[in-house]
Amino acid sequence: MLTIHADSWFDGSELRHRPVTVVIDGPVITAVHDGRVAVPSSATLHVGFLCPGLVESHAHLFLDGHEFDTAKRQAYMEAGYDAFLATGRRNLERLRASGVTLVRDCGDKWGINHALRAETAGSALPVVRSAGVAVRRKGRYGSFFAEEVVDAVTAAACVRTRGDSDDVKIVLTGIIDFAAAAVKGGPQFNLDELNAMTVAAKELGKPTVAHCSGREGIDLAVQAGIGSIEHGFFLDSVLLDRMAAGGTAWTPTWIPVAWVRDHPEACGVGPDGVAGLGRILDQHRANLGEAHRRGVTILAGSDAGSLGVRHGDGLHDDLAAYADAGLPLAAVLASATSAPRRAWGVDGGIIGVGRPADLAAFAASPVAGLSRLRQAVATVRGETVWQPASPYSLAAA
Ligand SMILES: [Zn+2]
Repeated sequence: MLTIHADSWFDGSELRHRPVTVVIDGPVITAVHDGRVAVPSSATLHVGFLCPGLVESHAHLFLDGHEFDTAKRQAYMEAGYDAFLATGRRNLERLRASGVTLVRDCGDKWGINHALRAETAGSALPVVRSAGVAVRRKGRYGSFFAEEVVDAVTAAACVRTRGDSDDVKIVLTGIIDFAAAAVKGGPQFNLDELNAMTVAAKELGKPTVAHCSGREGIDLAVQAGIGSIEHGFFLDSVLLDRMAAGGTAWTPTWIPVAWVRDHPEACGVGPDGVAGLGRILDQHRANLGEAHRRGVTILAGSDAGSLGVRHGDGLHDDLAAYADAGLPLAAVLASATSAPRRAWGVDGGIIGVGRPADLAAFAASPVAGLSRLRQAVATVRGETVWQPASPYSLAAA
């Protein structure tokens, strides 16, 4: 048995500004008591703040976001399977140190995500939810993480081979032209092709995830019943209402675009690009607030591995942006705990009796600032406690 005493906590929907005692037996939470309650014959952990384990909803584990040299990034893409796997292992450790216990990898064409999922299963590292290899239109954007298809028949056939993926990832639109503040090119797939893929995914029982920005692409994604829209730049209130009504979730991935705005020289972006990035982010920020007000499910995801986005830090940077956009603290925390698990049908994300013990602990409450959550003092899975070198140690009660 394991007992956790926390000075304050977040239960998955509400912040509680008072002490709590959480008792864990095997894999499950067996009691939640107001205040500090001594539990005999139990190891005890004392922490400042307790919440469900954090979720990073959009990452590419085989990539390092803190390699800023674009020539080195280019060369790394030839480094090969073993190097990619080693990078992924390090990134999982970084995520854990940031309080993450579940990460959704949104695609790599080498299958590093699947390999990491297999080798870390049952370990104290974050659980990997893997999209495997994504699906894209032949010749269009997505070469480092997607397989090419040419029409509705080959697209559906490709999706049917994704039985070992946790999510089916579809590349629906291209990248963004910063200076023009617009998506480059039209959607990669038409509605018939997209419907063929979502139907095939439904037959497999897999949620769908679409790389998608721009009104044209987002409109198609909503019509085809895509589970979550990744990036979603250039949303508007009409589309947000349709997403809320249809249960389409949104992963905003704020930080990779903000990083380019703040480091234009690193990517050769000129003054026109910087001005465009400012407009794009102003709109994205406004849409974050609107999405919350209109009841859209927001999944916290940073596209960690992208240029400038380090695993772990990226998630916390994205959370800071959501708070800055006006989301209440409880909504920010829900986007990285209960909301993604609910969207994916994964048990957890709630601190309550009978729920899986899948928790993150921190030295202090985020009420004093979200940066308090950047470094975990422990992650807890069942009775297994992982702690970095810190003064927070397990002691027999
Ligand atoms: Zn991505």
